[in-house]
This record gives sequence, structure tokens and C-alpha cells, in this order.
Amino acid sequence: MATSIALNRRYLLAAGAASAGLLAAPAIVRAATEINLYSSRHYDTDETFYSNFTKQTGIGINRIEAKAEELIERMKAEGANSPADMFITVDAGNIERANSEGLLRPVTSEVLTKSIPAHLRHPDGSWFGFSKRARVIIVAKDRMKPEEVATYESLADEKIKGKLLIRSSGNIYNQSLMGSIIAADGAEQAEAWARGIVANMARAPKGGDTDQIRAVAAGEGDVCVSNSYYLGRLINSPKPEDQEVAAKVQIVFPNQDGRGAHVNISGGGVAKHARNVDGAIKFMEYLVSEEAQMLFAAGNVEYPVVEGVKLPAPLDSFGSFKEDTLDAQKYAALNAEAVQIMDRAGWK
Ligand code: FE
Repeated sequence: MATSIALNRRYLLAAGAASAGLLAAPAIVRAATEINLYSSRHYDTDETFYSNFTKQTGIGINRIEAKAEELIERMKAEGANSPADMFITVDAGNIERANSEGLLRPVTSEVLTKSIPAHLRHPDGSWFGFSKRARVIIVAKDRMKPEEVATYESLADEKIKGKLLIRSSGNIYNQSLMGSIIAADGAEQAEAWARGIVANMARAPKGGDTDQIRAVAAGEGDVCVSNSYYLGRLINSPKPEDQEVAAKVQIVFPNQDGRGAHVNISGGGVAKHARNVDGAIKFMEYLVSEEAQMLFAAGNVEYPVVEGVKLPAPLDSFGSFKEDTLDAQKYAALNAEAVQIMDRAGWK
């Protein structure tokens, strides 16, 4: 709220200095100079996006932050009275859920369609991916060779029984990965895969992706599944104990001789009942600017979606990899089936 007051005041002062005639009714001023952003991104580095965008455009950003499910429920409850202009979240599964609930509206922007590869945005313009993350395999350097687990499919092989660490099936990252496996291998094989994963677990799922990496380093298992940026954060961490964890493990980009590694997005779209549609589109266009793409990479170790952006450390040290270009919208739309399969397989 402090931001919005400061911004309105600045706008009014500037407008007043230029010409008193520019002063519109307060309600209109508010609509033109602010967007209300519902965000489930919770990264400190995102602050820079908001302040830089406001500096460049004069458009302030009021943020409402909560978990994706909470924001979706809130928008549903608010209906046509929702103040949301835009929704931004992580994982295509979450943004597609908002879309399937009718909470987003399609928009057209040449900047967005030219900058973002087609498989990383909704075909109708209902949402767009602004950064990428690969769901990778991570091995203990001293106990497992990357070629032993070169594919997602190999994680279900009984050769690694009792060695696999992976978080719960309630997690959207695993649900989206499962969706991509259904798309690649079919539902029947996908279920057999899920059963193999459960059979190979070193322990019942607990904690987030970082906890799985730590557990590999601590010897609880030899291999885990994690989003790429969690390893990047451990490498970047000022804490020696985090750097020790990172030094004990090695990243493996799966399925490099086949369809490529599963990539997910952080994405957003314009809210169905947005009042400042233009402002929301401007903000989305800002997010694909070179400056913002660099911030995703440098701040949260996410991959840019825009081609040709130079990767900062430690992303450059991971090397280039082949990515699965299955439409994010497709695996996201398989979410319900993915959850059912994981349930049937006994994946807690
Ligand atoms: Fe995450």
C-alpha cells in the first residue's frame, strides 16, 4: 500500500507541474498508473523487477502474495469484483489451473509471442512463461555415474532400489513431470514408472527439492530429482555447508538422447476481470526484456526463455542441454490424470 500512495502522489505532482488540466478523477489516475498483481512467486530478487518496471514506466505494482492455490481460490471468490489485473506463479500446472477455472483472459502481444517460444506459452495467449527451470537428476559424485541414470525412465529401474530421493506427489513440480511422462510414454507405462519410483525410494517422501539434494550429499540416497535452480542456489550460497553439499553432487540433464529434459516455467497471465489490461501487458513485456531475463538468471538461477541471453554463473557451468519441447499447456492439462496415477501407485 505504501508503494501505491507514494506513486499516486508522485504522479499527481508530476501531472500538476505539467498542467493542471492533466489531472483526471482519482479513480482513473489509479487505474492508469498501477497494476494489482496476485503473485505466488516469493523470491527476494523479484523486488528488483517491480522497482525497475515502475521506474521505467511510472506504473506502480501492488502485490498480493500468497500460495498459488490460495490466490486461485481468492480470485474465484472475488468473481467480477476481483481487483486482480494479473496473476503470476510458478509451474505451468498452477497457471493452467487458474486458466481452466476461467480466471484469465487471452491477450495478444507481438513482443510476447516473438520473445517466448511457442511451447512455453498458452496457444491462446491466456498465459506466458517468463523463465524456465529444468527438472533434473542429481547424483552423488562418489557413488553414482551420470550414465546410470541418464533418463527419467531409468529412475524406475530396480538397479537403483533404495537409492532414490524424491519429494511427495502432492508437489506440482512432480505432477507436471508426471504429465510429461504420460505424454511421452502413455498412461499405462507412466503408471508402471510411478510404481518403480515408489519401489526405489530411499525413504518416504519428505521436504522440498533442496532437502533431497542435501540428503544425497549426506548419503541417505545416491540420486534425487530437483528443479535446476535449487542446485544453483546451493552453489551460490555464502554458507560453506551449502557449498559442501553442492560439491558432492553432479547435475544430470535427463533424456539427452531422446526427447530432452522436462522444463517448466514461471508464468503469468492477465486476470479475467482486470481493469488495467494495458498495464498488465506492459509488465509482461518488461519480463521478457533483456534486463528482466538477466534478473531471473542472476537472481534465482532460472533459465531465460528468450534466446540469446548470456547465462551468468552458475548456469553457464551446467552446460547447454536438450529440452523437451512438449507444450507446457499439454502436460499441465494432464495434471488430474497425473495425480490419479501417482495416487494409485502409492506415491505419498
Ligand atoms: Fe521452487
